[in-house]
Amino acid sequence: MKVMKFGGTSVADQAAIERLIALVRAERQAQAQTEGGDARGPVVVVSALSGVTDRLLGLAALSGSGDVEGARASLQDLRARHIKVSGVIADASLRKPVVDALNAECDALERVVSALAVLQEVSPRWLDALAAVGEILSSQIVAAALSSHKLLATFVDSRQAVVTNDEHTAAAPLFEETTAALMTHADPPLAAGRMVVMGGFVGATTSGVTTTLGRGGSDFSAAIVGACLGASEIQIWTDVDGMLTADPRIVNNPQVVPHLSFAEASELAYFGAKVLHPATIQPAVARNIPVRILNSHRASARGTLITAERPKAAPLTAVASKKGVTVVDITSTRMLMAHGFLRRLFEVFERFKTPVDVVTTSEVSVSVTIDDARRLPSIIDALSSFAQVEREDAMAIVCVVGDGLHEDPGLAAQVLGSVGDVPLRMVSQAASRRNITFVIREADLPFALGRVHDRFFAQPSIAAQASAGQAANVS
Ligand code: ADP
Ligand code: ASP
Ligand code: MG
Repeated sequence: MKVMKFGGTSVADQAAIERLIALVRAERQAQAQTEGGDARGPVVVVSALSGVTDRLLGLAALSGSGDVEGARASLQDLRARHIKVSGVIADASLRKPVVDALNAECDALERVVSALAVLQEVSPRWLDALAAVGEILSSQIVAAALSSHKLLATFVDSRQAVVTNDEHTAAAPLFEETTAALMTHADPPLAAGRMVVMGGFVGATTSGVTTTLGRGGSDFSAAIVGACLGASEIQIWTDVDGMLTADPRIVNNPQVVPHLSFAEASELAYFGAKVLHPATIQPAVARNIPVRILNSHRASARGTLITAERPKAAPLTAVASKKGVTVVDITSTRMLMAHGFLRRLFEVFERFKTPVDVVTTSEVSVSVTIDDARRLPSIIDALSSFAQVEREDAMAIVCVVGDGLHEDPGLAAQVLGSVGDVPLRMVSQAASRRNITFVIREADLPFALGRVHDRFFAQPSIAAQASAGQAANVS
């Protein structure tokens, strides 16, 4: 059984959902032709229609600021767009209940908007309740659309099937409970030869309160469901040909990386390759399930396959980058060498639930980067009781990944040298030596990324030559 996850652009409108239907049909036909293969499924996991989660979060902000009229207008657009897209459900008897359900969902949303406008405050719990609506609507439309095209599908509500802790807006799955819930809700239709359609991104606590897994979390949902049901493959259908050698929004000529290891993919996702949510690989590793990234607009492209091991390839695999990062410098001449200082320092970030990405130390200071600066004022306050603290916003992380870094001691220096005189604020190489990571000003990112990409990825032979040249120098 395979899990096929379709991102927002892959369910954006009727045409996109028709492409989805064709891809699911092709998968069913391939299954039928595989002798002795597992003929169950697939399980289809869908995102909200593209842009809808942003809209819902915008709606929450409008309500919180008391702008009921603005929120209602936005909600009206959302309702109209979903009703229009449900036109893809060819069979009217299947379309009607879906349109009724989405009207009921939008009516409920309208009541929530009015209540939040009175309170003028949106708690994380309410944010989740609002954000989840996108996937709740899209999954019902897609389930009925498949059924109306003779691909019999059962809609399974993710709020019943994916159980999480109560960390609202970034909930973590509870695997045992989720497996049990999927056995109850998803296994029977699969055993009966039907497909299952679920919304990604969404779950609920053991007491049934709606949660979300964090932005981009539908990939993670697909992996969770795949791991719990023992899938043979997790497919991430998106709008690019696979994992590319760099972010296509910043670099002109990125190429597809045909095969990645789990470790490489995790590192790239963690450091900003948006095509994959950073937590996606974890459940796949636990059950050793291959993950494929595929283009729903161009099914003929081969995509990227991610497995535990991969064949040897170029010394550098890809470069990931992340904007909007804040560097925090913590200086303490008195304390740094004292034992317990780092514990005390990191405890502050832990207390304010703020993950730290890159860390570097000098004799008297520690620098860390964080992605989420919402709680930084409180963090700085707490740190200031034992150190001097400075922050610098609008920074970017660049992370170059490749096994060549481990094998060729000169390669990291070449990578750093390739960005010319762009000031490097922090540089770090972890024990795995599979990546070299540096922090620069956000404004320098396009230039620096372009330089790294031109030098090492635009023509793979150049990377090979650089590596070979360096090896010759060393020997
Ligand atoms: P989906 O809605 O299908 O989940 P996302 O927008 O989350 O899609 O992720 C796909 C996007 O990720 C691409 O359109 C691309 O702009 C961006 N991206 C950033 N870095 C990379 C990369 N290294 N390889 C591929 N895509 C990347
Ligand atoms: N719809 C959610 C988001 O936009 C989840 C996802 O698409 O993966 O973040
Ligand atoms: Mg995504």
